[in-house]
Amino acid sequence: MLPIDVLRDVYGYGEFRGQQLAIITAACDGRDCLVLMPTGGGKSICYQIPALLCPGLGIVVSPLIALMMDQVGALRQLGIRAAFLNSSQSPREQQLVLEEIESGELDLLYVAPERILQEQTLDFLSARSCSIIAIDEAHCVSAWGHDFRTDYLALAQLRERFPDTPRMALTATADERTRTDIIHRLALHEPLRFVAGFDRPNIRYSVQPKGETKSQLLEFLTPRRGDSGIVYCLSRKSVDGTAQWLAERGFTALPYHAGMPNPSRSAHQERFLREDGVIIVATIAFGMGIDKPDVRFVAHLDLPKSVEAYYQETGRAGRDGEPAEAWMVYGLQDVVRLTQMMNQSQAPEQHKRIEQEKLNALLGWCEVTRCRRAALLGYFGEEYPGTCGNCDVCLTPPITWDGTESAQKLLSCVYRTGQRFGAGHVIDVLRGAKTDRIQRLRHESLSTYAIGSDHSALWWRSVARQLIVQGFLFVDHERYGGLRLTASSRALLRGDLTLLLREDVDKPRLRRKPQAKTGITASDTALWEVLREQRTQLADEQGVPPYMIFHDATLMEMVRLRPSSREELLSVSGVGQNKLERYGDLFIDLVTSAAETAQYTRIVLDRNTQGESDELSDH
Ligand code: ADP
Ligand code: ZN
Repeated sequence: MLPIDVLRDVYGYGEFRGQQLAIITAACDGRDCLVLMPTGGGKSICYQIPALLCPGLGIVVSPLIALMMDQVGALRQLGIRAAFLNSSQSPREQQLVLEEIESGELDLLYVAPERILQEQTLDFLSARSCSIIAIDEAHCVSAWGHDFRTDYLALAQLRERFPDTPRMALTATADERTRTDIIHRLALHEPLRFVAGFDRPNIRYSVQPKGETKSQLLEFLTPRRGDSGIVYCLSRKSVDGTAQWLAERGFTALPYHAGMPNPSRSAHQERFLREDGVIIVATIAFGMGIDKPDVRFVAHLDLPKSVEAYYQETGRAGRDGEPAEAWMVYGLQDVVRLTQMMNQSQAPEQHKRIEQEKLNALLGWCEVTRCRRAALLGYFGEEYPGTCGNCDVCLTPPITWDGTESAQKLLSCVYRTGQRFGAGHVIDVLRGAKTDRIQRLRHESLSTYAIGSDHSALWWRSVARQLIVQGFLFVDHERYGGLRLTASSRALLRGDLTLLLREDVDKPRLRRKPQAKTGITASDTALWEVLREQRTQLADEQGVPPYMIFHDATLMEMVRLRPSSREELLSVSGVGQNKLERYGDLFIDLVTSAAETAQYTRIVLDRNTQGESDELSDH
């Protein structure tokens, strides 16, 4: 059998993506490989197909138990003989798995690193013929990346214990230092490197200045009712508050953070995975090890710490390749709060400096005036030719204006008030407010008092934020977040520079519809709902998430193609032999009876209205 046959028969997919075939071929030829692919790129197939094609057992080292169980569940749906070994199993269950391996009944075994490294397991497995060893989340071996795990370091010994088995290290982490680390620390032998681009073309990026956060969120979510997604907040308190607020507005929104009791936390995660249309409101504690393919949006109500964190968190959207949204609001208060948090930490100075630089890079990215995707990929050292047409900047280019004079006013006011106040007070002075503080400090006698009364406080906050991001103002954490001038502010004050600022719009100027759900028309909606219901029922019976039965994209294609025979159903992407056997007739029945009902309705309508109903029958 050829790799393409396995892809078609087992997975039900028509073609390989990107470098998948090259990777599979290399592994089948016995080469070690390093595979870098973004989330959702299709890494799993790269080691699963060699394990199916080559003689012996395929071993997958994976750090997260939940993920392992998920993968095995999905493989079993495809009819692949897979199992896992980990601490969640009873000794009896583990024994059964070992027996299956002994009698050659397994193609794929998932194990945690600490488990495979047990002498007993090593002896047992290395005495057998193995097709491939895949090391997933391979960046865990590097102290440079995030998620470093000491037990990953010991995986280097797999080279001696399995000298004839090709190894494949896989990760979605990009940077060069981590890559080199992986190769050395896992002792890969003359590895072939496969580096895919990091673009996630189906994700639409947009960033809005923070105004009324909740109404902005509501406006974003309303056209997306019924979609599942993640809303990230910085604090536990705002997680709880936001979840409740959304629930009161009829969304199925559940909180998730480290301060919750464990049982309700896992219950919420479980519902997110198993039910359609659940929104999880979470701190960044949520997401690691979630590979739900149909997360339609990731919304940030607070700024993450770095571009890397942002990319990782938003990467959880749209693994299935269908349109998805990465949406974020951010404002001056985020900048000040994050800077303060970083500086209050006990970390060494050097570390703090790096964190500050990373935050600055993210802030700069929020304010970009060129294609957001190009800028994001640029940060990872990848060139993106042209513009993407699928980010906020491409869709509604920001308006810029000459902010030199306004910036001078604000900077002078910072100077006149003694460089020790936060933006709130400085803006009060500029706008000529009559606060107690101003009276107490006699700031109404300053020359800059009320020179900016022609604009709103919100407008001035936007100017202040952009001045901070562009380095013309500095937030002095040692003095309670007071604003101070920088070396470059002087040039601006002297008028040696012209400063372009973005005009903040709290609502997108062009009302954009959410991205079309791959061409589902009104007349298809009924069938779509019927198919989804059937899917949920099957999933519930088996205790697996609905997406393991069929992905949304597969159901959508059924709606579009209306397959009426097994052969036609097999041509739908995501329907392989096993799923055809198990669910084929059921879904063909639903599709055909829906077609009959539609036809019947059409006939009745035609009769009743004598042909005037062409339009009606479409609804
Ligand atoms: P990763 O591990 O890289 O995040 P996965 O291996 O989970 O990605 O794959 C992401 C999704 O893409 C899965 O739903 C998978 O079934 C699907 N997929 C992978 N390869 C293909 C392909 N060649 N054609 C269609 N879908 C694919
Ligand atoms: Zn763009």
